[in-house]
Formats: sequence, C-alpha cells, structure tokens
Amino acid sequence: MGNTVDYMVRATAADGQVRAFAVTGRELVQTARKAHGTTPVATAALGRTMCGALMMADMLKGEKDLITIQITSDGPLGGLTVTADNSGHVKGYVINPMVLLPPKEDGHLDVGGAVGKGVLTVIRDLDLKNTYTGQVELQSGEIAEDIARYFAESEQVPSAVGLGVLVGTDMNVLAAGGYIIQLMPFAAEAVIDRLEKNIASSQYVTDMLSEGHTPESMLRLLLDGLDPQINDSMPVQFFCNCDKDRVERALILLGEDEIRSMAAEQEDTVLTCQFCKSAYHFTRQDLLDLISRHKSENGG
Ligand SMILES: [Zn+2]
Repeated sequence: MGNTVDYMVRATAADGQVRAFAVTGRELVQTARKAHGTTPVATAALGRTMCGALMMADMLKGEKDLITIQITSDGPLGGLTVTADNSGHVKGYVINPMVLLPPKEDGHLDVGGAVGKGVLTVIRDLDLKNTYTGQVELQSGEIAEDIARYFAESEQVPSAVGLGVLVGTDMNVLAAGGYIIQLMPFAAEAVIDRLEKNIASSQYVTDMLSEGHTPESMLRLLLDGLDPQINDSMPVQFFCNCDKDRVERALILLGEDEIRSMAAEQEDTVLTCQFCKSAYHFTRQDLLDLISRHKSENGG
C-alpha cells in the first residue's frame, strides 16, 4: 500500500507568528476509496478528514502519539472515524460508504449534506498513556470549517483550514489535499490582515491541486508577503497496522463463550478490519486452538 507520491510539508511565516501545514494525498485517498468502495461524496468526506488528521498528527511531538477524529452525526453518511500518527500514516472508515447525494448547486460534492448535524471529537493519545479529548458541534459538516472550529474552541488557536477531494466521473480520486494555517498568540494585526486577504482571494484546494500546485506552492500563495519558510517535508500514506495477532487479541476479549458459538455456527469465520477491510480467516479448529492457547497462557 506504500507510495512516495503523497507528502506533507511544514512551514513558518512572519518570523514565527504563523505556522502552516500542507498535504497532497491523492494516492492515500484513492487507496481508502478502493478498500471501502466509497461513493464520491463518501470518498470526499473520508479523504478530507484523512488529510486534516495527517496535518494535526504532524503537530504531535511523540513518536507513538496518535490523533483520532471521530464524527458522530445524523446525515446519511452515518459518521466516520480517522486515525493518524506523526510518521505520516493514516487510516479511516465511514459508517455508510454507499451514500448517494446529488451535488450542490455549485457542482461540488455535498459533503455537508452527507455528514449532517452532529459533533466532531478529536482524541489525542500521547506517550501511550495520556488521552485528551476535545469536542465541538459541527459547523457545516464540510470538515475543514469543523476542524477550524475545533482549533478555535477547544485549543484556542485561530486557524484557517482548507481541505478538498476531487473525484472523477469514473469514481477515481483526481486530487486530494489541504492546508492548516495557524496564528500564534503574539501575531501582529498586520500579519492577521494580510493572511485574511490571502485566504479570501485564494482558490479551492481542489482547483489549486488540479492546476498543478504542490503543498509548497500552495503555502507560498497563501502566505504571500509573509516570508514563508518551508521547514520540513515527509511522505504520507494510507497505512493500517492490523495483523492476525491483533485480531486474535480482539477475539479473546469477546470471551470463550462467544468464540465457541462462532466456531459452532460455521466452519470458517471471517473477521474484517473496519479500517482497511483486510479479511482474517479462522477455521473452527483455529478458534478452538485459540481458546486452549489462551487458557494455557493464563495458567488455566
Ligand atoms: Zn486494518
């Protein structure tokens, strides 16, 4: 599933009064689309959230830190979950990948209509022990505005967020990516004014990307006149860390009775990872072996 096409950059501007992130993620959104069989509007909702999560994960400090964005809402999409780490890995799924909605009047996919009303929850897992959760009411369900609201309300960081996924008539992802630009507490009025003007006159992310813009050139446009410095670049990809061992541990948690009834029901049990749709097969004997192995490991 790896690729080297998608990447993310980090930048500062106006002598550190502004920090910024930008990502291009066509391949990783396409990988998610293929895994989940999403319709265009579901691909856009998932893809926008995955691009946002990657940039938010880049703000984390620890190697094993994770960020999860969860949307619980009443629209036909039924909500979504996305998890990213700060090594450029992201995975995610939507509840109803088959949602179909007519486009909006301007021709754009109706992500807000698919998402509906509800809440956006951001869970930060730090140092494998501390979990911080922030929650905001959805602003529009268009994802970018909702993440901007999360930063403003939950972290008190004024942020401009742009996210976009362009899907072709053949359902393939043509462009995906976005940016997050944040003002530090000591940002001067002139810097804020300039940034607001730049953003107000900027194009949609999908238009910029389909015109050939890169994360670097998007940030140079958005941070024009503010002396942007690109500090870092890293590859990003759709990556799920599931394996048979993890699935077995999840099975054990169901308890012996549940595993026995699964074994009794059918010769083959297939368990599917909800994040990447990888299928794990267990024969009746596999399940019974799992129970006895678990018992002996626990001295029983
Ligand atoms: Zn998986």
